[in-house]
Amino acid sequence: MTTAKKHYVVTIARRDPAAEAKETAEPFFWKKKKLEEMNPTEWELLCDGCGKCCLNKLDIDGKICFTCVRCRFLDAKSCLCRIYENRFAKVPDCRLVDLRAVREKPRFLPKTCAYWLLDNGYDLPSWHPLVSGDRESVHRAGQSLRGRLIISESEVKHYEDYIVDWQDV
Ligand code: SF4
Ligand code: SF4
Repeated sequence: MTTAKKHYVVTIARRDPAAEAKETAEPFFWKKKKLEEMNPTEWELLCDGCGKCCLNKLDIDGKICFTCVRCRFLDAKSCLCRIYENRFAKVPDCRLVDLRAVREKPRFLPKTCAYWLLDNGYDLPSWHPLVSGDRESVHRAGQSLRGRLIISESEVKHYEDYIVDWQDV
């Protein structure tokens, strides 16, 4: 059976994780705490703002296949949700990225997702805003959706035609 899924980003529009971390979080908290030990602020700061979790995915025989079809509410340039506060009301299959989601199998978060990386024993990459100190570094490194050939779900009928083989998803 083939099903489309959408998942939400935990970024907050206009926030700056690097700057905010200096004000509100313990230095290098992601190296000292497990995901389950993090407070809500630390949890949200972990999100690199890549936007890749807001792509539609297809579950094909138990394998998650990413498509280049974005949720209609994802801003393709900023890679942020345009309806963050109301996302669950407006998009029924928009999901909370919590521990359960991070550990779900098969994996539906992209390989570069900070939550998945940390939970699986990897460190944050150099382009992560918390490491670089610059929220734009995720985009400059080509790790976000910015600049990629993506299409809004409102223009798509057959998701199967848009499956991608990107190395980072
Ligand atoms: S509603 Fe927002 S957070 Fe949810 S999938 Fe769409 S763009 Fe992403
Ligand atoms: S894939 Fe992970 S790091 Fe990227 S926007 Fe989604 S939750 Fe944040």
